Amino acid sequence: MSFQDIRAEVGADKILAVSKLQPIDKIRGLYNQGQRKFGENYVQEALDKKDQLKDLTDIEWHLIGHLQKNKAKYVVGQFALIHSVDSLELAQTLNRQCESKKVTQRILIQVNLAGEDSKSGFDKSALMACWNELIELPHLTIDGFMTMPPLSETGEDVRPYFKELRELQQHLAKTTDSARHPLKMLSMGTSSDYKVAIQEGATLVRLGTVLFGARN
Ligand SMILES: *Cc1c(COP(=O)(O)O)cnc(C)c1O
Repeated sequence: MSFQDIRAEVGADKILAVSKLQPIDKIRGLYNQGQRKFGENYVQEALDKKDQLKDLTDIEWHLIGHLQKNKAKYVVGQFALIHSVDSLELAQTLNRQCESKKVTQRILIQVNLAGEDSKSGFDKSALMACWNELIELPHLTIDGFMTMPPLSETGEDVRPYFKELRELQQHLAKTTDSARHPLKMLSMGTSSDYKVAIQEGATLVRLGTVLFGARN
């Protein structure tokens, strides 16, 4: 499928183009076709690319990869949205860095719903246990949730995880001040399962391979 077909199918505003390990000219190529939101995994690579593409003033960069606490100081204020906040300690560190840089950072809470050891993210019970601490961090705004389910052949086998993320969002939204933390965003679905993710209420699908081809 072409980019324009996927765009028509998913909705332009719901596509995050995952450009990790893709060259600058391919990012420009997609930008020239109208794409504005790009997601990167690795801090140094992301900051380098941001710099090389700073002439594209309306491009929006997201950080989606696992973030080590010692890199928090390099990322606050640099990304429109950080999808991969996966522990209370990381959130606290980001909050402190925001304080010293006098910025507010929009984040998503990454949830590991399948309990896979290989994936980062809060497990649900741990998230519930520290939710009140998370929402009190004054320099972070929680826009919503992100999940990375197990690899799937058909997309259908991960539908329950997408549903569960949406239910978690609805549950927490009931008791959380939406003026302070909107909780509206659901970042879920990749090249292999984005159609199912959209059906289950994704507001952002993270698409790499289907847009760019295989990574180097
Ligand atoms: C690489 C990556 C993607 C994109 O995966 P594709 O299968 O290439 O679409 C999405 N989300 C995260 C967190 C990733 O690391």
